[in-house]
Amino acid sequence: MSSQTPEKHTVEEYAVGILVALVTEEVAVTIMLDNEHAEIETPSSDEYVYTLGSMSGLNVVLVCLPKGEIGTSAAAAAVSTMTATFPFIKLVLLVGIAGGIPPQVRKGDVVVSVPEGQSPGVVQWDLGTRTEGGQFTRKGLLNRPPKFVLTAINALQKKHLRYGTQIPEFVEQAKRKEPRLQEMYSKSDQLQDFLFRSDYIHVHDEGDMQDYEGTAPCKSCDKTKTVQRPPRGIRVHFGGIATGNSVIRDAVLRDRLKKDLGDILTVEMEAGGMMNNCPCVVIRGICDYCDSHKDKTWQGHAAANAAALAKEFLGCLKKSSVNLDKEPSVKDIIGHIHEHVTSMESKISSGENQKILNWITNLNFGPRHSDSLHLRTPNTGEWLLASPEFKDFVTFREKTLFCPGMPGAGKSVLAAMVVQELVSRFRDSEKQICVAFVCCDFRDQANQQLDALLASLLKQLSANLRHFPNMIKVLYDKHNTQGTRPSVKDITGCLHAIAGEYSRVFVVVDGLDECPVEGGCRSKFILEIQNLQAQRPVSFFATSRNIPDITRLFQECPTLEIFATSDDVRRYLNYRMRELVVDDEIKCDTNLKEEIKTRIVEVVDGMYVDHKPLLKKSTYIFRFLLAKLHFDPLVEMSRLKDIRTALAKLATGVKAYDNAYRAVMERFQGQNTHRVNDAKKLLSLVIHAQWPLSVLELQHALAVEKGTTDLDPENIPSVKFIVSSCLGLVEIDEGSDIVRLVHYTVQEFFLRTHEEWFPNYMYWIAEICITYLGFDAFSSGPSPNEDEYIKRRTENPFLRYASCNWGYHAEAASLPTSKVMSFLEKKPQLEAASQGLQRKHCWESSSVERISEEGGHSQPL
Ligand SMILES: [Zn+2]
Repeated sequence: MSSQTPEKHTVEEYAVGILVALVTEEVAVTIMLDNEHAEIETPSSDEYVYTLGSMSGLNVVLVCLPKGEIGTSAAAAAVSTMTATFPFIKLVLLVGIAGGIPPQVRKGDVVVSVPEGQSPGVVQWDLGTRTEGGQFTRKGLLNRPPKFVLTAINALQKKHLRYGTQIPEFVEQAKRKEPRLQEMYSKSDQLQDFLFRSDYIHVHDEGDMQDYEGTAPCKSCDKTKTVQRPPRGIRVHFGGIATGNSVIRDAVLRDRLKKDLGDILTVEMEAGGMMNNCPCVVIRGICDYCDSHKDKTWQGHAAANAAALAKEFLGCLKKSSVNLDKEPSVKDIIGHIHEHVTSMESKISSGENQKILNWITNLNFGPRHSDSLHLRTPNTGEWLLASPEFKDFVTFREKTLFCPGMPGAGKSVLAAMVVQELVSRFRDSEKQICVAFVCCDFRDQANQQLDALLASLLKQLSANLRHFPNMIKVLYDKHNTQGTRPSVKDITGCLHAIAGEYSRVFVVVDGLDECPVEGGCRSKFILEIQNLQAQRPVSFFATSRNIPDITRLFQECPTLEIFATSDDVRRYLNYRMRELVVDDEIKCDTNLKEEIKTRIVEVVDGMYVDHKPLLKKSTYIFRFLLAKLHFDPLVEMSRLKDIRTALAKLATGVKAYDNAYRAVMERFQGQNTHRVNDAKKLLSLVIHAQWPLSVLELQHALAVEKGTTDLDPENIPSVKFIVSSCLGLVEIDEGSDIVRLVHYTVQEFFLRTHEEWFPNYMYWIAEICITYLGFDAFSSGPSPNEDEYIKRRTENPFLRYASCNWGYHAEAASLPTSKVMSFLEKKPQLEAASQGLQRKHCWESSSVERISEEGGHSQPL
């Protein structure tokens, strides 16, 4: 890699996005870059890691799906996020490996998706459109690509006919540039291409269980059962691609797909996530034949070939004198790609009934469910199914099981696993049992409103009933003619009636914390399910982050904390290894990476043993938090020695978390003064506030300047940025916008040690409360009526907090009387503040009359 400083570009300059699913593919594309560009700061809501660079003279953004995530919805989410961050992307390439469908293709060949005649280029094979004879109906996915893409593909085809492909040349160049990766990406003699007959099943031997390196694939398979083919070189095919959410390892299924779907050359897993009209080209290197002999040996080479072809294609695009600037951006074309979800397989085959079901709602959680199952590694989550809580849940009727835990790593997988377990357990039951699944997604809040969520339950319950419910037909007829939508009441009415037809219904809801909060959607949804439980045999399984508003609603229910095992922590660290700065130039050896994982896991586990009673409730969050806090500082270290020293210093045992937080605070103090000052103020507010503050409240509080009589709107800071300066100790809750400490142990730590880090900040809080309340904006005294008061409160978000708590803070900080007096003397402002204080009580007792009777002022001091 060149040692020059990388070029810096702006987001506007990137016109091509490349999506890959595996790290092998990510690296393959990276080594094909002409050069790499400097990183660009992306919004904090965007958690993907991008590689930027130029390829054949075009600027490209490369993104890899998070480790372990494959399939259509992961791809849809990645493309949607990438094109939001890079809004000028005009074309997305899906580049990587896939299974080939013989006989046309061979291992190492590359397939490019091209529409031909009536064939749309990409076909989704696992949509629930199996006809009676078990055949698949062709369901085209991607429309014809726009003209500029077709022009470039034509140019590429012509070039291949005349001169052949440049793939070997590009792979050779990459090899010279990165000799270390040669073994992985180039074709060695050890790569053997056996195509076994469809009826010959793979013979397992011990080598299969180990990593593929060093073991001969199909060692025990009978080579006389292979199909004899004359040798030939690499070929590029232009044609049809099948996509689906499952990996195919079955030659019979593969052959059937070919028979049913016609000319398809390869089967992959991500293209289904692209929306119909998303300008997109799928480029797949063939690494296996979708049969039981499938292994990983060809993956590296196939990935390199696909990446090389992407480079060649971009070369043709560049040369075809297309003005990319004039093309519409993917972002504008796809709008909300999340709306595109494939339909869950339904027992209802009749077209009319299916139409009615789709009319109920187009929300569909099938793809999320199967994606989550893919994420599951063997044996994870067995503890949940084996727990007495879960056994009780399955055995006894009308029970609830609530599973709070940390976001991300485990909840969705466990929820999907629970669905699968319930479905398979009751599949052959004589009784009518239904498992309905809802997966909340904060990125899709616009579509996941109360009526849609309830409608989704109704749809699943209706679809699984032996006879299609008549009342749904009636509801449809009533609304369809007039073009109206059923009300929440209509939906719950039907839901109650149809749930009554089952002997038992399981409702599994994943990620309640991601359900929209506005309009009380989240709590109403939970209450509706609980209402249903009160009258029907409904069992409710829910996962969520640990949010007080939610846990309160499950107070009476059995609760099972989802916790992380050492393996989970290792997986987390594994994923983050690529962030190590030291790895770029010096190449962190595998031993060191192993050391990092082992040491951090050891420290985190040590905590768990020592602190069992303390951590019992939040082990899951806590393990990840500690692992994160220990890993974060290593990222920026530029010397191996520094990393080793830091690892050696990690404390175990009782002091571990104190030490971890202390280490964070030391790094915290090392940031530039400006950042530290703001962050100290924010931390103090979060630690000392009498109730959790929202982003808006904090913005106003932090904008207050000493000795002023008005808030300067230009002094309002970015709270998101300040939160990022707090190095992971503070987070913004996605749903409620509340800013809070990541864990109760952080609160506990600061209550003991805050004087050490930010002395006198209690004083500052008291001062800003008083300054804020004394602003000229309130010099007209109390608001004359409710509407005016609400308007005032909206315009001055910190008013309510300051009104209610200035007295407490003044006392706690021993604010001098002179300071307090200067405020008390401003009579109108004082009265305005008292109004705020009373309003608070007013909401607590929800009795407006009583307050207006009481009138008068109360002295908070
Ligand atoms: Zn085999």
